[in-house]
Amino acid sequence: MQKKTMALLMSLMLLLALALTGCGGDKKEAPKKAESKVLRVGTNAAFAPFEFQDEKTKEYAGFDMDLIRAVGKQLGMEVQIANMSFDGLIPALDAGNIDAAVSGMTITEERGKKVNFTKPYYTSGLSILVKKDNETIKDVKDLEGKKLAVQIGTTGAIEAKKVKNATVREFNEASEAFMELRNGGVDAVLNDLPVNEYYLVQGGKDVAKTAGKPLTSEHYGIATAKKNTELAGKIDQAIEALKKNGEYEKIYVKWFGRKP
Ligand code: GLN
Repeated sequence: MQKKTMALLMSLMLLLALALTGCGGDKKEAPKKAESKVLRVGTNAAFAPFEFQDEKTKEYAGFDMDLIRAVGKQLGMEVQIANMSFDGLIPALDAGNIDAAVSGMTITEERGKKVNFTKPYYTSGLSILVKKDNETIKDVKDLEGKKLAVQIGTTGAIEAKKVKNATVREFNEASEAFMELRNGGVDAVLNDLPVNEYYLVQGGKDVAKTAGKPLTSEHYGIATAKKNTELAGKIDQAIEALKKNGEYEKIYVKWFGRKP
């Protein structure tokens, strides 16, 4: 190789290295751009495979996290993720502490009074988890009078409270509800089906199983503050573009192993 070409190559590599170190991800680094170029996202990062903290890298990972990062890229915005309790998300939107809540959040009429939702981006529903050796709970009506574990502020909690004579125990995180089932403190967990399935696949099947059919059909939406009338529309457009260019499908397949 000629000296000149070599020198050119070296400087190119140096440039690349500099560019790469500039991409620090969405954490730590203080925003350099104007405020409006930052998308402050709130999530409850204990809801795999939608949002969770990667044990090794400490990065927020999951379907929702990949999706919102792709949305940010599409909008030319830097995505900053804040981890908080699920029932703290809507208050955080109200207070203006975050711009969007991306947290496997079901679009409901009640929540729609407090926030602006995007269009549905994922179809979900609730399912029942019981102990592996449980032969008595096969359907939602078998939950009557039973002890149920749910995550506080969720659609699972709402459904559980409709069950006659049931004792409903509410936990801050879904993982704590799973733990309670494992420990025998409750008879069943009512929680989002894809999260229950993921728990079973990740080792939960040694102690638990799904009982009966899904209870509900639900749609996840990204929530934005009621006052902010523009953002949900912008996110919708970005997701639309990601559906067209194949990026949405790529992210979906990565986390669910099948096409949407
Ligand atoms: N989809 C459920 C809800 O919106 C649970 C969400 C969650 O726990 N992250 O209530």
